[in-house]
Amino acid sequence: MKRTENLLVLFAAVGSIVLGAALSPVTARAAELRVVASTPDLGAIAKAVGGDRVDVTSIARGTEDPHFVDPKPSHVVSLNRADALVEGGAELELGWLPRLVESSRNAKIATGAPGRIVANAGVQLLEIPTGPVDRSMGDVHPGGNPHYLLDPRNAVIVAEDLSRRFAALDASGAETYRANAAAFTSDLKSRIQGWEARLASLRGAKVVEYHKLFEYLASWLGLDIVGQVEPKPGIPPNPQHVAALEAKMRTEKVPVLLATTYHPSEVTAEIAHRTGAAVATIPTSVGDGEGNTSYVAMVEQIVTALAKAAKSAPSATPAPSTEGH
Ligand SMILES: [Zn+2]
Repeated sequence: MKRTENLLVLFAAVGSIVLGAALSPVTARAAELRVVASTPDLGAIAKAVGGDRVDVTSIARGTEDPHFVDPKPSHVVSLNRADALVEGGAELELGWLPRLVESSRNAKIATGAPGRIVANAGVQLLEIPTGPVDRSMGDVHPGGNPHYLLDPRNAVIVAEDLSRRFAALDASGAETYRANAAAFTSDLKSRIQGWEARLASLRGAKVVEYHKLFEYLASWLGLDIVGQVEPKPGIPPNPQHVAALEAKMRTEKVPVLLATTYHPSEVTAEIAHRTGAAVATIPTSVGDGEGNTSYVAMVEQIVTALAKAAKSAPSATPAPSTEGH
């Protein structure tokens, strides 16, 4: 099995090198850093910071649950040739990334190497367990909640950190990375207030989510998350849990149910139908939905989805906002 895998990797590597040579113009300058990002939201921030000096490949697709990604030989090839790997950390990719990194046999991205960049280094993580961790707490969040990029204020922290880490790997690009990160973060900061204003009517609103995905979004926007469709992170819903959740949603008049494109939409649609809540399908990464091609576009689409849900569930939301749209 191992030999077959290695062979597969070798063939894929040779194939892509030959193809790359055939397609690249002779004069094209290679990027200074080949960066692999575990998810496309991290990839988009890495590209914004790295600009032309980096070549960024993302492993997961934007429409994929970042906890459950199918490893492919092409991922091993990308990792084998990488100068840096940017991962979300907090065990977001625990189920699939360690095996891919091991198969890539690339010392530059081994744990602790300068090219191994854990993006949450400067981020204040939520829901870090205070006691011993065991399986009864769920499958996928043993190191705290890893979905911190759904708060744009954390993207500012990540971009600044990436500029320092890229500079450590490519010193002659330090000024470029610093300037790119500054441009990205100042653009983001200038939009944050407008996004908050558009969703002011949702501040304090009760919401339910499918997975513990939106804690950071809620913390940013002042949403009050009162339950999850999953009984524990990564554990599929069961009828008893869903019945109790629906009773709570009816009693507390929860206006909005936060869903994703990769959790079962028939489950959220049924719960919404039985409780009167509006479903807001939230893009959770770059590439999740049409036109969602940058980090800013992703947040823009999140805000739009929430604003739409708030409008279609007027009975339980606070007084209508006077904000323009
Ligand atoms: Zn999760």
